[in-house]
Amino acid sequence: MRLVDVHCHLDSPAFERRLHDLLETARSAGVCAWISAAIHPSGWEAVRMLSRCHAGVYHALGVHPWYCSDDSLPLIPSLASQASEAVAIGEIGLDSKRPVFPLERQLSVFSRQLGIARELKLPVILHCRGAFNEMLQLFRKEGAPAGGILHNFSGGPELAKAFMDYGLAFSLGGVLTWRNSARRTLLLKEIYPHSLLLETDAPDIPPVEARGTVNSPANILYNLKAASELLDVPAEEIAAFSTANAGRIFGIAL
Ligand SMILES: [Zn+2]
Repeated sequence: MRLVDVHCHLDSPAFERRLHDLLETARSAGVCAWISAAIHPSGWEAVRMLSRCHAGVYHALGVHPWYCSDDSLPLIPSLASQASEAVAIGEIGLDSKRPVFPLERQLSVFSRQLGIARELKLPVILHCRGAFNEMLQLFRKEGAPAGGILHNFSGGPELAKAFMDYGLAFSLGGVLTWRNSARRTLLLKEIYPHSLLLETDAPDIPPVEARGTVNSPANILYNLKAASELLDVPAEEIAAFSTANAGRIFGIAL
Protein backbone atom coordinates (compact mmCIF):
# COMPACT_ATOMS: atom_id res chain seq x y z
CA MET A 1 0.00 0.00 0.00
CA ARG A 2 1.24 3.50 -0.87
CA LEU A 3 -0.13 6.75 0.53
CA VAL A 4 0.48 10.42 -0.17
CA ASP A 5 -0.03 13.05 2.53
CA VAL A 6 -1.09 15.98 0.36
CA HIS A 7 -1.24 18.52 3.15
CA CYS A 8 1.12 18.90 6.10
CA HIS A 9 3.50 21.40 7.65
CA LEU A 10 6.77 19.54 8.04
CA ASP A 11 8.67 22.79 8.67
CA SER A 12 6.86 23.18 12.00
CA PRO A 13 9.11 23.65 15.05
CA ALA A 14 7.15 20.71 16.52
CA PHE A 15 9.15 18.39 14.23
CA GLU A 16 12.55 19.96 14.72
CA ARG A 17 15.38 17.41 14.93
CA ARG A 18 13.04 14.43 14.74
CA LEU A 19 11.62 14.89 11.26
CA HIS A 20 13.88 12.28 9.68
CA ASP A 21 12.72 9.62 12.18
CA LEU A 22 9.05 10.60 11.83
CA LEU A 23 9.26 10.36 8.04
CA GLU A 24 10.97 6.96 8.27
CA THR A 25 8.21 5.70 10.58
CA ALA A 26 5.58 6.94 8.12
CA ARG A 27 7.52 5.48 5.20
CA SER A 28 7.59 2.03 6.77
CA ALA A 29 3.80 2.32 7.22
CA GLY A 30 3.39 2.96 3.46
CA VAL A 31 3.55 6.73 3.08
CA CYS A 32 5.66 7.52 0.02
CA ALA A 33 5.19 11.28 -0.45
CA TRP A 34 4.29 14.44 1.42
CA ILE A 35 3.37 17.93 0.29
CA SER A 36 4.50 20.43 2.88
CA ALA A 37 2.75 23.77 2.51
CA ALA A 38 4.23 27.08 3.60
CA ILE A 39 1.94 29.64 5.24
CA HIS A 40 4.05 32.82 5.06
CA PRO A 41 7.01 34.01 2.94
CA SER A 42 9.29 33.57 5.97
CA GLY A 43 8.77 29.82 5.59
CA TRP A 44 9.23 29.50 1.82
CA GLU A 45 12.95 28.73 1.99
CA ALA A 46 12.43 26.18 4.80
CA VAL A 47 9.90 24.09 2.86
CA ARG A 48 12.04 24.30 -0.28
CA MET A 49 15.03 22.96 1.70
CA LEU A 50 12.92 20.15 3.17
CA SER A 51 11.98 18.94 -0.28
CA ARG A 52 15.62 19.07 -1.37
CA CYS A 53 16.80 17.15 1.70
CA HIS A 54 14.14 14.44 2.13
CA ALA A 55 13.16 11.94 -0.55
CA GLY A 56 9.44 12.02 -1.26
CA VAL A 57 8.89 15.46 0.27
CA TYR A 58 7.44 18.10 -2.06
CA HIS A 59 6.49 21.66 -1.23
CA ALA A 60 3.91 24.35 -1.91
CA LEU A 61 4.40 28.09 -1.45
CA GLY A 62 1.83 30.64 -0.45
CA VAL A 63 0.45 33.09 2.08
CA HIS A 64 -2.27 31.61 4.31
CA PRO A 65 -5.28 33.85 5.09
CA TRP A 66 -4.31 33.95 8.80
CA TYR A 67 -0.87 35.26 7.89
CA CYS A 68 -1.48 37.96 5.26
CA SER A 69 0.33 40.48 7.44
CA ASP A 70 1.78 43.78 6.15
CA ASP A 71 5.25 42.26 5.80
CA SER A 72 3.99 39.45 3.55
CA LEU A 73 2.23 41.70 1.00
CA PRO A 74 5.28 43.13 -0.84
CA LEU A 75 6.65 39.57 -1.26
CA ILE A 76 3.63 38.14 -3.09
CA PRO A 77 4.85 39.19 -6.58
CA SER A 78 8.06 37.21 -5.99
CA LEU A 79 5.98 34.04 -5.52
CA ALA A 80 6.12 33.46 -9.28
CA SER A 81 9.91 33.27 -9.38
CA GLN A 82 10.21 31.52 -6.00
CA ALA A 83 7.89 28.68 -6.96
CA SER A 84 10.06 27.06 -9.64
CA GLU A 85 10.48 23.85 -7.60
CA ALA A 86 7.03 23.93 -5.95
CA VAL A 87 4.32 21.44 -6.92
CA ALA A 88 1.53 23.84 -5.92
CA ILE A 89 0.63 27.32 -4.71
CA GLY A 90 -0.63 27.00 -1.15
CA GLU A 91 -1.72 27.19 1.49
CA ILE A 92 -3.89 30.05 0.28
CA GLY A 93 -7.57 30.87 0.70
CA LEU A 94 -10.23 32.61 2.73
CA ASP A 95 -11.36 32.30 6.34
CA SER A 96 -14.35 34.16 7.67
CA LYS A 97 -14.74 31.85 10.70
CA ARG A 98 -11.43 32.99 12.11
CA PRO A 99 -10.90 36.32 10.36
CA VAL A 100 -7.44 37.31 11.61
CA PHE A 101 -7.48 39.89 8.79
CA PRO A 102 -10.54 41.53 7.21
CA LEU A 103 -12.10 39.58 4.36
CA GLU A 104 -11.31 42.35 1.82
CA ARG A 105 -7.62 41.96 2.51
CA GLN A 106 -7.88 38.17 2.38
CA LEU A 107 -9.68 38.40 -0.96
CA SER A 108 -7.06 40.65 -2.48
CA VAL A 109 -4.16 38.47 -1.24
CA PHE A 110 -5.95 35.32 -2.39
CA SER A 111 -6.83 36.73 -5.81
CA ARG A 112 -3.22 37.80 -6.47
CA GLN A 113 -1.90 34.35 -5.56
CA LEU A 114 -4.59 32.65 -7.60
CA GLY A 115 -3.52 34.76 -10.57
CA ILE A 116 0.09 33.58 -10.12
CA ALA A 117 -1.04 29.94 -9.87
CA ARG A 118 -3.05 30.31 -13.10
CA GLU A 119 -0.13 32.00 -14.83
CA LEU A 120 2.28 29.22 -13.76
CA LYS A 121 -0.39 26.55 -14.43
CA LEU A 122 0.26 25.18 -10.95
CA PRO A 123 -2.46 23.51 -8.87
CA VAL A 124 -3.51 25.14 -5.59
CA ILE A 125 -3.90 23.97 -2.00
CA LEU A 126 -6.86 25.87 -0.62
CA HIS A 127 -7.90 26.70 2.93
CA CYS A 128 -11.53 27.77 3.07
CA ARG A 129 -13.71 28.24 6.13
CA GLY A 130 -17.05 30.00 6.05
CA ALA A 131 -16.30 31.71 2.73
CA PHE A 132 -17.15 29.10 0.10
CA ASN A 133 -19.51 31.40 -1.77
CA GLU A 134 -16.96 34.22 -1.85
CA MET A 135 -14.40 31.77 -3.22
CA LEU A 136 -16.74 30.46 -5.92
CA GLN A 137 -17.65 34.03 -6.83
CA LEU A 138 -13.99 34.89 -7.28
CA PHE A 139 -13.51 31.87 -9.57
CA ARG A 140 -16.49 33.02 -11.63
CA LYS A 141 -15.17 36.56 -11.87
CA GLU A 142 -11.44 35.99 -12.35
CA GLY A 143 -11.11 32.37 -13.42
CA ALA A 144 -10.49 29.14 -11.53
CA PRO A 145 -7.09 27.64 -10.82
CA ALA A 146 -5.67 24.89 -13.00
CA GLY A 147 -6.68 22.16 -10.57
CA GLY A 148 -5.88 21.57 -6.93
CA ILE A 149 -7.54 20.69 -3.65
CA LEU A 150 -9.59 22.18 -0.87
CA HIS A 151 -7.87 20.80 2.19
CA ASN A 152 -9.78 19.72 5.31
CA PHE A 153 -12.95 20.46 3.34
CA SER A 154 -15.88 21.17 5.66
CA GLY A 155 -18.62 21.68 3.07
CA GLY A 156 -21.32 19.22 2.14
CA PRO A 157 -21.92 17.26 -1.07
CA GLU A 158 -23.70 20.14 -2.85
CA LEU A 159 -20.83 22.55 -2.32
CA ALA A 160 -18.41 19.82 -3.33
CA LYS A 161 -20.19 19.52 -6.67
CA ALA A 162 -19.83 23.27 -7.26
CA PHE A 163 -16.06 23.04 -6.70
CA MET A 164 -15.76 19.85 -8.76
CA ASP A 165 -17.29 21.77 -11.67
CA TYR A 166 -14.13 23.90 -11.49
CA GLY A 167 -11.97 20.78 -11.59
CA LEU A 168 -11.07 20.85 -7.89
CA ALA A 169 -10.71 17.90 -5.52
CA PHE A 170 -10.69 17.53 -1.72
CA SER A 171 -8.32 16.25 0.93
CA LEU A 172 -9.57 15.05 4.28
CA GLY A 173 -7.66 14.16 7.41
CA GLY A 174 -8.22 13.91 11.15
CA VAL A 175 -11.86 15.01 10.95
CA LEU A 176 -12.66 11.66 9.31
CA THR A 177 -11.83 9.92 12.59
CA TRP A 178 -14.49 11.90 14.44
CA ARG A 179 -16.99 9.64 12.64
CA ASN A 180 -19.68 12.06 13.78
CA SER A 181 -21.35 13.42 10.70
CA ALA A 182 -23.78 11.81 8.28
CA ARG A 183 -23.20 14.79 5.99
CA ARG A 184 -19.46 14.04 5.84
CA THR A 185 -20.22 10.47 4.84
CA LEU A 186 -22.45 11.77 2.04
CA LEU A 187 -19.64 14.09 1.02
CA LEU A 188 -17.21 11.15 0.91
CA LYS A 189 -19.58 9.20 -1.29
CA GLU A 190 -19.90 12.19 -3.62
CA ILE A 191 -16.16 12.73 -4.05
CA TYR A 192 -14.89 9.13 -4.01
CA PRO A 193 -13.02 7.77 -5.94
CA HIS A 194 -11.59 10.43 -8.27
CA SER A 195 -11.73 13.55 -6.09
CA LEU A 196 -10.71 12.26 -2.65
CA LEU A 197 -7.19 12.70 -1.31
CA LEU A 198 -5.80 12.11 2.16
CA GLU A 199 -3.88 14.44 4.44
CA THR A 200 -2.72 14.81 8.03
CA ASP A 201 -2.28 18.63 8.36
CA ALA A 202 0.45 17.55 10.80
CA PRO A 203 1.30 18.87 13.36
CA ASP A 204 -2.36 20.00 13.61
CA ILE A 205 -5.68 18.09 13.71
CA PRO A 206 -4.60 14.75 15.21
CA PRO A 207 -6.96 11.82 14.68
CA VAL A 208 -9.12 10.71 17.60
CA GLU A 209 -6.72 7.81 18.13
CA ALA A 210 -3.89 10.26 18.84
CA ARG A 211 -5.90 12.99 20.55
CA GLY A 212 -3.88 15.39 22.69
CA THR A 213 -0.59 14.67 20.91
CA VAL A 214 1.35 16.45 18.16
CA ASN A 215 -0.10 15.03 14.96
CA SER A 216 2.63 13.07 13.19
CA PRO A 217 2.91 11.98 9.53
CA ALA A 218 2.25 8.27 10.20
CA ASN A 219 -1.20 9.11 11.61
CA ILE A 220 -2.52 9.26 8.04
CA LEU A 221 -3.16 5.54 8.52
CA TYR A 222 -5.92 6.34 11.05
CA ASN A 223 -7.50 8.73 8.54
CA LEU A 224 -7.42 6.05 5.88
CA LYS A 225 -8.99 3.52 8.27
CA ALA A 226 -11.82 5.95 9.08
CA ALA A 227 -12.42 6.68 5.39
CA SER A 228 -12.58 2.94 4.76
CA GLU A 229 -15.20 2.47 7.51
CA LEU A 230 -17.29 5.44 6.40
CA LEU A 231 -17.24 4.49 2.72
CA ASP A 232 -17.39 0.77 3.40
CA VAL A 233 -14.61 0.28 0.87
CA PRO A 234 -11.35 -1.62 1.53
CA ALA A 235 -8.50 0.62 2.75
CA GLU A 236 -6.20 -0.70 0.00
CA GLU A 237 -8.62 0.50 -2.67
CA ILE A 238 -8.92 3.99 -1.14
CA ALA A 239 -5.13 4.16 -0.83
CA ALA A 240 -4.73 3.27 -4.52
CA PHE A 241 -7.26 5.86 -5.73
CA SER A 242 -6.18 8.68 -3.43
CA THR A 243 -2.51 8.12 -4.33
CA ALA A 244 -3.30 8.11 -8.05
CA ASN A 245 -5.31 11.32 -7.58
CA ALA A 246 -2.36 12.97 -5.83
CA GLY A 247 0.00 11.96 -8.63
CA ARG A 248 -2.36 13.30 -11.29
CA ILE A 249 -3.26 16.60 -9.58
CA PHE A 250 0.24 17.55 -8.41
CA GLY A 251 2.20 16.02 -11.29
CA ILE A 252 4.20 13.83 -8.94
CA ALA A 253 5.71 10.64 -10.32
CA LEU A 254 4.82 7.97 -7.77
ZN1 LIG B 1 -2.56 23.41 6.92
